[in-house]
Amino acid sequence: MNHTTDATVTGHVPADLPERIQHYIDGELVDSLDGATFEVLDPVSNETYLQAAAGKQADVDRAVAAARRAFTEGPWPGMLPRERSRVLHRIADIVESRDARLAELESFDSGLPITQALGQARRAAENFRFFADLVVAQADDTYKVPGRQVNYVNRKPIGVAGLITPWNTPFMLESWKLGPALATGNTVVLKPAEFTPLSASLWAEIFEEAGLPQGVFNLVNGLGEEAGDALVKHPDVPLISFTGESSTGQLIFANAAPYLKGLSMELGGKSPAVVFADADLDAAIDATIFGVFSLNGERCTAGSRILVQREVYDEFVERYAAQAQRVVVGHPHDERTEVGALVHPEHHDKVMGYIELGKTEGRLVAGGGRPEGFETGNFVAPTVFADVPRDARIFQEEIFGPVVAITPFETEEEALELANGVKYGLAAYIWTNDLRRAHTFAQSVEAGMVWLNSNNVRDLRTPFGGVKASGLGHEGGYRSIDFYTDQQAVHITLGAAHHPTFGKQDPAGG
Ligand code: NAD
Repeated sequence: MNHTTDATVTGHVPADLPERIQHYIDGELVDSLDGATFEVLDPVSNETYLQAAAGKQADVDRAVAAARRAFTEGPWPGMLPRERSRVLHRIADIVESRDARLAELESFDSGLPITQALGQARRAAENFRFFADLVVAQADDTYKVPGRQVNYVNRKPIGVAGLITPWNTPFMLESWKLGPALATGNTVVLKPAEFTPLSASLWAEIFEEAGLPQGVFNLVNGLGEEAGDALVKHPDVPLISFTGESSTGQLIFANAAPYLKGLSMELGGKSPAVVFADADLDAAIDATIFGVFSLNGERCTAGSRILVQREVYDEFVERYAAQAQRVVVGHPHDERTEVGALVHPEHHDKVMGYIELGKTEGRLVAGGGRPEGFETGNFVAPTVFADVPRDARIFQEEIFGPVVAITPFETEEEALELANGVKYGLAAYIWTNDLRRAHTFAQSVEAGMVWLNSNNVRDLRTPFGGVKASGLGHEGGYRSIDFYTDQQAVHITLGAAHHPTFGKQDPAGG
């Protein structure tokens, strides 16, 4: 049986919750033009606690027009990097000063454990600080051809960036796109995930207080196939930065093709954690428990397949299962909680479906359904399947919940084949004390990011992105600056013109 906090504790409802959420367009909170709304549930009671404006094409048109005006009329794109940077630092200060409230709302809306939601709020502030500093330090290339030419790069913001984000750690993932898009002088239209619009509704006030000019930030709530789709197909939106499922990414890629937009795609994952027999087993177990059960397992980089070398396999599975059973499931607002409630009943049903399937595909050694005492709400016991074969669906498909598949391997070659044997390629975690193997394996594994003897601890300067079905393009550090800017090449001739001259020949041929 899993450890739980007291299940009889009732859900916590934050004070001063809004009853409805509007769009934010051109500095004003507005309803949808047709008045449409959608319901938002809280994941503990699964009751509707607010109505959010459901944006359609007409609302997206308004938001894009406002963002376009703010871009062409300024002042934001033309401001000195230092001036924009100051605004971004103020945003970070405000986010930090409101971290407790932000975490409370995020935890209530998404079901994330409160302590983890607090960490995400601080990370959101850090994203703004990081890009505020980076644009001030930004240098662009100059190429000299001595005596003949100087060529330099004129870096420019692109225009209206469309930002489409998912429901897992929503505020932090929004900050990840907003930070670089704004730092580089673009204006934006954000379309947050429809399951979790609450924390996004705080941006407007934060940005106004920080002094972001009117029209630079716009937000349209709504369903993906309506508001999101209208943004993707809007001719005045040259950039789409999308984070979400791989299948949605494919659809957006196709829908954006006629407009030839810039696309950044951060998609799904089924990342392997590979544990060799020589690894520090205590550290590997702690890290792989955290790697799949933190953030309720609703984490794109979750190490949701653990490959373990045969010599230590039985010991690993036994210890892992015992520790997984001790992971504390509880109400999201309870500080002791390690796994809270999944975001939405639809997602809960999906994860429960995979757990039932897993019982036919592998050996259940921990969890396996609802934790005792939590008869309602989207709670799932941390669930561990051992002996999972490579062709099992729970090995191949992203579950995006607190469910992990453990598979044995004999040799390094077999481990690599298993690690690479899925369509995804986002992250990989490798546990070994053999230096040669660690690097050889890291360089051969098909993953955008690799951690050696470590959990997912990310330096904001490093590239972030996946390969295969996990994404297209890399953001992170200056790569995000590259995505959100055009690099115009300006060529200057020095001295006399150095080109062949046409049209100077005597037509008579004399
Ligand atoms: P999702 O693809 O269902 O939705 C993501 C966003 O896209 C939402 O705002 C949604 O409204 C919008 N959307 C849906 N259909 C659309 C359409 N046709 N046109 C335009 N927009 C549309 O994803 P989700 O369920 O919200 O999030 C979970 C997924 O996100 C998982 O697959 C996870 O791995 C992935 N994810 C990836 C990363 C990463 O960096 N690689 C990070 C976090 C989450």
